[in-house]
This record gives sequence, C-alpha cells and structure tokens, in this order.
Amino acid sequence: MICALCREEKGKLIDSHFMPAAAYPHVRGTEETGSGPPVLINLRRKSAIQTDRQVKRPLLCSECEDLFSKNGERRMGHLWATASGFPLLDMLNSEAAISKGERFDIYDSRLLEAGVVNSIFYFAMSIFWRAQVWDWGYDGDAYNRALGQHYESKFRSFLLGKTELNNVLLFVNVNSDLDTSAIMTFPRSGRVGSDRLHSFSLLGLNFDMYVGRKISSVTRTPFEFYNTQIMFVSSDLKKSAAFKKLAGRVRTEVEAKGKLKANPANKFNHSQRP
Ligand SMILES: [Zn+2]
Repeated sequence: MICALCREEKGKLIDSHFMPAAAYPHVRGTEETGSGPPVLINLRRKSAIQTDRQVKRPLLCSECEDLFSKNGERRMGHLWATASGFPLLDMLNSEAAISKGERFDIYDSRLLEAGVVNSIFYFAMSIFWRAQVWDWGYDGDAYNRALGQHYESKFRSFLLGKTELNNVLLFVNVNSDLDTSAIMTFPRSGRVGSDRLHSFSLLGLNFDMYVGRKISSVTRTPFEFYNTQIMFVSSDLKKSAAFKKLAGRVRTEVEAKGKLKANPANKFNHSQRP
C-alpha cells in the first residue's frame, strides 16, 4: 500500500477521516438545539438525509497522519466554534482587530501567535490537498481535482515540511454568529470574477483559497498590503449572500427525508455536500 503523502510503500495505511473526527460531535450539535446526527445534504442528487456516516478511507501512513495531527488538526480542535464558545473569534477580537466595519471586521494575522496562524494555514492546505487526492467513489468528486497535478505536488511538498508554498492566498472568514457555526461543508471550487475560488467550511470557519500565478489584483491587494498569505475577517454568516443562497437552495431543491422534514431546528446544523 502506498501512502498518498510520502508516497512510500507501507504495510498498513490509517483509515483517515476526510474532516477531523474531533469535529463531528460539534457538527452534531446539542440537545438544546434539537439535533440528532448531522444532516448530509447532496445538492447534486437533491436529497437530504440525516446521517452519522463519517467520510473516511485508507489514505495515509501513521507518520503522515501524525504530521497532519501535529501541524494542524490538534490545534484546530482548540480554535473552532463549539457549543461552549469560539476561541479563535475571541483571540482575533482581543489581539488582532484592526478595523470594525458594518458588514465585517478585519484582523491583522501578524498580531496573532505564529503557531496559531501556521496551524490554521497548514490545516486548510491539508484539507484541499485531501480533496484533490481523495477517492470520492459513489459520492462523486465535487471538488473536480481543481488543484491540478502541478499544485498537488507543491502542496504535498509543503505538507511534508520540505518547501514553502508560493502563489497561494488564504482568506479565512470567521462566523460571528454562533447559531450558524455548527456547519461543515466539503471542498468545492468555482469561478468568482476572473479567479478560481476553492472553499470549504468547518465549525465557524469558512476557508477561501486562491491558487496560481494569475490571481487577480483585486484579490491580491489586501494580502500585499498586509504582507501576508493568510487574512482573517469576521462577519455574520446568517446575513451573507452565500448563506442565504445556500439556505434558499436547500429549501427549494432538496427533498427532505426522515427526521429532517419533521424537525426544522436541524436547518443550521448540517454537513453539506454540493
Ligand atoms: Zn506517509
């Protein structure tokens, strides 16, 4: 068996989760919000089912799984939003706020502890890389191998700690509305203006990534201004156009099945597959 990251032959591969196993109990929500298992929404098949199924398959050797855990996931587990609070949002507001706006707040990532910023960046890169190499099987590949072969190898080298990652910008939109933070969406990609946008979200964090030499100047400018590869903003997801669109699509296109139909409280507590 060949490990997808180090590409070495190993006796055994770990049954890796696509999203961290530690995230699932928080997507599930709490008794108070009236939720059972997370709801899996598949817009392509226009169905929504309540499921406990966690997406996992053999992918990495134990050393590489450990690398992912040590460099990204472990720290993420102390930053993302849960029913008891949102440590990253608190940290941003107390240490790194530079501009409070009507629609969103902007932060200076250089004011945060480097270890925190590096873990978030590494974690996001590991998820996009996983989406690229994952065998999606029956579910279909919603990401469409959007990273491409060239950047797959650049990402792999970065994740192995061998090289830096150039021509990659990451925009982290932190959701200031705790009622809608229990969401997990899998990576997808599409065009926004002249740029290709890669995105996924997990427990109050929405990750938007731009890759390549031809990222538009509109997108590049704030990153160049703050001299950074990663930018943080926060906004109320419930008020955002994208969320309204998703909520609208779910309402109109998805045929609700099982408990979902009977329990509208589950509306904001789902994992979503485009
Ligand atoms: Zn490996």
